[in-house]
Amino acid sequence: MEKIPAFSTTPIESIPSIVNEVRTTFRAHRTRPVEYRLKQLRKLYWGLRDNEDLILDACKKDLGKSQFETYITEVGWCENDIVFMCNNLEKWVKDESAPDIPLANKLFSPRIRKDPLGTVLVIGAYNFPIQLSLGPLIGAIAAGCTAILKPSENAPHASAALAHIISTSLDPSAYACVQGGIPETTLLLEQKWDKIFYTGNATVGTIIAKKAAETLTPVTLELGGKNPAIVMRGADPRLAAKRLLWAKILNAGQVCVSQNYILVDREILPQLVREMEQVLREFYPRGARESPDYGRIVNKRQFQRLKKMLDESQGKILLGGTMDEETLFLEPTVVQVESLEDSLVKEESFGPLIPVLPVKDLDEAIRMANEIDDTPLGIYPFGSKAETDKVLSQTRSGGASINDGFFHASLPTLAFGGVGNSGQGAYRGKASFDTFTHRRSVTTTPSWIESMLAVRYPPYTAKKQEK
Ligand code: NAD
Repeated sequence: MEKIPAFSTTPIESIPSIVNEVRTTFRAHRTRPVEYRLKQLRKLYWGLRDNEDLILDACKKDLGKSQFETYITEVGWCENDIVFMCNNLEKWVKDESAPDIPLANKLFSPRIRKDPLGTVLVIGAYNFPIQLSLGPLIGAIAAGCTAILKPSENAPHASAALAHIISTSLDPSAYACVQGGIPETTLLLEQKWDKIFYTGNATVGTIIAKKAAETLTPVTLELGGKNPAIVMRGADPRLAAKRLLWAKILNAGQVCVSQNYILVDREILPQLVREMEQVLREFYPRGARESPDYGRIVNKRQFQRLKKMLDESQGKILLGGTMDEETLFLEPTVVQVESLEDSLVKEESFGPLIPVLPVKDLDEAIRMANEIDDTPLGIYPFGSKAETDKVLSQTRSGGASINDGFFHASLPTLAFGGVGNSGQGAYRGKASFDTFTHRRSVTTTPSWIESMLAVRYPPYTAKKQEK
């Protein structure tokens, strides 16, 4: 296996010229032909294949991720997205004829061209360092944009692997990876962009949106949220336990779209907890700490934040609770809480902490979910059709998976994104292409039509004004 190139911050003084080069390439129209885009996407695909071991190793080092998990959520995920994009791109770039055209307007061939937005900035987050960086980049390439990627410095090995893959696989005059943290990102934000695509927390999202507003730059913001799972009387407790635990043990709970808390009908709470205990035994027969399948918290800062949340909680630990700062291990921990003010409910945990909050009925669950966060990234109702329909019709969220944890986010055929507090804009599949595309309205006025247009020219005689 190739040695992982070390993380090295991009020299700050070189950033303006890197951006300038990719902008110059865009202005030379090099990235517009669909053949060029497909070629770059294929090169990225092979870059991923050739560097699979590098990525597996990087994600192990950054997040303790198992190879299988890295494959399904990072390498294979991006490969599938590229294949899906390549299979559909020629269809999506075609002009669309305007919908519902009145007969007379057909003479002008009203249509929508799909033009690239231009030169774009993609800023990734640490938790799925490959997927959250390359996912948007795939959309930018497909749309014909040039792009700079700024992966998260908090997953330094993955950042270095991405820099290596991009510089060795893609056209270096059109795509570049800038590595670094706040100073480098701040300088990047000073440059002129045609779109900024940001994934991460809402505080930084606000900084980015404000900076972008100064130059009227459009943004896509993929933020976090306090996502509820709601387990009602009509649910199968065994299935709910298994699916919701899976959604929280993946990547040691560092998943933006997994549930932050579970509202559970008081009557079935004991059964749900029994099933959770059983499921955890099945997932990790020798305990999560001993399992090669269970990840680690990304760094000490995040570990201490999670520990503080747990320490401050008034809840009762029902399962788990062990941790080790040295190895950044935090056991999947189920805590029964009684108040919306509990530290585990009030903030997004972004870790394997699983507060369960008993409720008397579905109305109470919906009221509480809306009070905690009325625009989360996802919502996960478990129950009868009537119960889950009621949840969807009385709440808002970026997406929803019924009787599952965040399954909706895994399909490239569905746009993924937030609403309100959890973000704006969406991507994956066609939405990735659309998010970096300008839908340019175009008409063609034929010469032979001139006599029919005479009415629009002055002088506006009385005859012309006759209705
Ligand atoms: P992070 O620490 O990796 O930061 C994200 C990016 O923001 C990094 O590239 C970082 O360099 C940049 N950044 C940090 N401070 C900055 C500043 N002052 N100015 C400019 N850029 C700055 O990740 P994070 O933000 O801690 O990620 C966790 C949060 O992101 C959670 O809230 C999670 O829910 C959310 N998230 C959302 C999605 C989604 O798709 N909606 C995906 C992953 C994470």
